[in-house]
Amino acid sequence: MSLLVVGSVAFDALESPYGKVDRTLGGAATYFAVAARFFVPVNLVAVVGEDFSEKDEQFLRRRGINLDGLERAPGKTFFWAGRYSQDLNERVTLATELNVFADFNPRLPEKYRSAEYVFLANIAPGLQRSVLHQVKVRPRLAALDTMNYWIERTNAELRETLHHVDILMINDAETRQLSNEHNLLLAARHIFRMGPSILVVKRGEHGAMMVDKRGVFSVPAFPLEEPHDPTGAGDSFAGGFMGYLASVRRHDDAALRRAMVYGSVLGSFSVERFGLDRLRTLKRSEINARARHFAKLTRFTL
Ligand code: AMP
Repeated sequence: MSLLVVGSVAFDALESPYGKVDRTLGGAATYFAVAARFFVPVNLVAVVGEDFSEKDEQFLRRRGINLDGLERAPGKTFFWAGRYSQDLNERVTLATELNVFADFNPRLPEKYRSAEYVFLANIAPGLQRSVLHQVKVRPRLAALDTMNYWIERTNAELRETLHHVDILMINDAETRQLSNEHNLLLAARHIFRMGPSILVVKRGEHGAMMVDKRGVFSVPAFPLEEPHDPTGAGDSFAGGFMGYLASVRRHDDAALRRAMVYGSVLGSFSVERFGLDRLRTLKRSEINARARHFAKLTRFTL
């Protein structure tokens, strides 16, 4: 079973009250692929520039992430810089430099075209759609993430792409911005008219909420004493969520609920250290232990 992802592979500059890094491997597709690879093989579609080192590539390759769809182009890799507030809840984007992504025209390797599970990670909606259209048969499950940058600049293209996906997975501010509704349940109804039948809203330290025609399901964020860097938490959540669903090959209500927990587990590990540092050393046994901890955290009787 394999899972296809398209999205940014980037260098990030990050600042939080816990420290600062000038240039570290990041990008939505990178976090997603690393998180999802704990569950299933992952095929990655993206572009990097000449500054992308052999070491960065080896890091992904050694984890068993398939890079046949990772193109190298003349120019620089996507660059993003962000700074977090004291409580880590607010973030300002200091720079977004698309670089090689500005002219990227993805061509899917033949073996990627039969993907059954597809994740359109955060990147230009036109690129997301191009990748989805190259998949031969409608995937069992296609999910999409996006952010304010694309909602503001490429709204029409985003709406067109949304027609073709089953799950929209975004944060609360983006849900409100896209739907023009403050209330998340009304926002969900609005979003269902755009195409997706499942909405997953990532709410940072407040956990995550899933809405579909059956109703609402919520998971908390795992309580951490000292989160360091929220970058990539949403993408790691998505990796845990989609990776789990692809591994069990079903998406009934019980499986979706467990996927929400695995998403929360991967998101919580990701924020424990800067950038990808915590995911680099994470073990499958730690994922299982934290998932059990989640069950304890939310268990009650009436
Ligand atoms: P998250 O914290 O889940 O929003 O994801 C952060 C990651 O998204 C960083 O590693 C960035 O490189 C990447 N990113 C930031 N802005 C964009 C954008 N406009 N398009 C695609 N990826 C982005």
